[in-house]
Amino acid sequence: MVIIKTIVLIVPLLILLLSAILLFSLRKVFLKRNVTKKVRNDILTCSACGVGVHESLTRKKNSKIYCSEECINS
Ligand SMILES: [Zn+2]
Repeated sequence: MVIIKTIVLIVPLLILLLSAILLFSLRKVFLKRNVTKKVRNDILTCSACGVGVHESLTRKKNSKIYCSEECINS
């Protein structure tokens, strides 16, 4: 009977703990999403001509950022 009482006490605590961990990891995912959204809205500078370009329009080569194919080849 003592074992059953212990289980009855521990199980809700475990469920509470698991849901807390789940909520915490979900919060992390949402925070990560916000970070990537922020990066997507950044204006980056072209390594060749120095023009400000929206992140979605940039071209990357050798870990450098360029605004157009002409700048990559220059
Ligand atoms: Zn450029």
